[in-house]
Amino acid sequence: MMPMTRKPLATATHAPLLLGATLLLFIVIAGALFLNLMRLRDSFSWVQHTNDVLLSLSGIQRAVLEAETNERGYLLTGIDSYSDGYRHAHDSLGSRLDSLRALVGDNSAHVARVDELRLYVDMRTAQLGRVVELGPERMREALDILEQARTDRLTERVEASLTAFTRVEQALLTERMLKHDSESLAAALITACLLILAVASAAIAAFLLEHQRAAARQQEADQRLQSLQAELMRVARLSTMGEMSSALAHELNQPLGAITNYVQGSRRLIEASSHPDKAKIGAALDKAAQQTLRAGAVIQRLRDFVGRGETDKSIESLRAIAEDALSLASVVTRDRPVDVSLALDPTADRVLVDKVQVQQVFLNLIRNAFEAMRDEPERRLRISSRPAASGMVEIVVSDTGPGLDAQINDRMFQPFATTKADGMGIGLSISQTIVQAHGGSITASTPAEGGTVFSFTLPRADNSDGHRETDAADPQRSICLRAKIGS
Ligand code: ADP
Repeated sequence: MMPMTRKPLATATHAPLLLGATLLLFIVIAGALFLNLMRLRDSFSWVQHTNDVLLSLSGIQRAVLEAETNERGYLLTGIDSYSDGYRHAHDSLGSRLDSLRALVGDNSAHVARVDELRLYVDMRTAQLGRVVELGPERMREALDILEQARTDRLTERVEASLTAFTRVEQALLTERMLKHDSESLAAALITACLLILAVASAAIAAFLLEHQRAAARQQEADQRLQSLQAELMRVARLSTMGEMSSALAHELNQPLGAITNYVQGSRRLIEASSHPDKAKIGAALDKAAQQTLRAGAVIQRLRDFVGRGETDKSIESLRAIAEDALSLASVVTRDRPVDVSLALDPTADRVLVDKVQVQQVFLNLIRNAFEAMRDEPERRLRISSRPAASGMVEIVVSDTGPGLDAQINDRMFQPFATTKADGMGIGLSISQTIVQAHGGSITASTPAEGGTVFSFTLPRADNSDGHRETDAADPQRSICLRAKIGS
């Protein structure tokens, strides 16, 4: 029997490569995400910066307005709160312009704009300051200054400078917000890719892990099958040797008996004769008779030894034995799949047997069935069991082969009886010896509907006499297993 080996699947060799590639991709995408987040942070700070500039500009505009309003208020009413309000607006303008210049310090065009603005603001506040100093008491002079201010158009210049600056900043804000939006979108997309990749790599890792586990399980099953095959082959060799010596002993016994008879007849003839050497011939014939008897005794001892059928019995599961034998036999029927059904009665599963020897019986019967069905269009094997009388269980192995050959019908359990060109004719004989050594019996028949049915009995472990004809047929009680073997 050839040991079964399996090629490792391609995935097993590609597994580290696949994982490595996924990891690399993961690192690249994570790096891209990091860079993008950095850019996103930058673009956000630019948006914020532009907002700060715009706020600062509107603060300056408000302060200019406040200074002008308070100047007019004071001129018209002479109330001190207006002159205070003016001074406050004037002071804040200076600090606001300083902070705006600091904000746009990295942009020379903006710095120039701020300086221009500062020039107009300073000129305007100088006029306003003089008006506030003159106050309502010197209204005439104050109105002259106001008239001069209208001519100088300083307010309009301040306004125009502020508006131009604000427009530039608003355009910048729009541009920076668009950039920020597109970078946010890119970051979201990269994050989604990363998530998908993380899920995919988790799935790949889970698949590879499961694949590795399956390979380990397969390896374990292969190893178990190989050790089973080795043990069975050892027992098969021993059984074959035993069976052959037994058959040889049986065959030799008859000629030995005849030799003894001839020697004794010759002894009697020489006794009755007047041959001069009759004493010598008689002694030689006695020795020949003794040696023949000795040869007979040796052969008898050999038969006794072989016939003793030493077995190593323990409580075993019939189902496990049958399944092991099926997986061993499946090796020979790879090219011709067989539909196998197991219908073993679970109440008669525990048997007291020599496991390896009984496996040998199953294997012989299953292999014979597979071989018999090789050229049949329909290949079905059924193995069933049911409790039998006297604490035994009956196992039935039936196939859809051509049935038993009439030539061999009455001697198929004898050693060397075979109809196969390459057969030894030992399998059934060994099976019978094993079954009988367990106190059981084995029979074969060809039912009317065709095929061959082998039936044998084995002792049940509980040894109860629960003989019930209907057990195996009861679908509730018998566990049925169907499988396609060899495909
Ligand atoms: P071998 O298989 O070497 O011939 P066996 O003792 O196992 O020796 O079988 C003896 C003979 O019994 C086979 O040659 C075959 O003619 C017959 N035989 C055994 N099993 C079957 C079967 N399932 N269907 C038909 N014939 C069978």
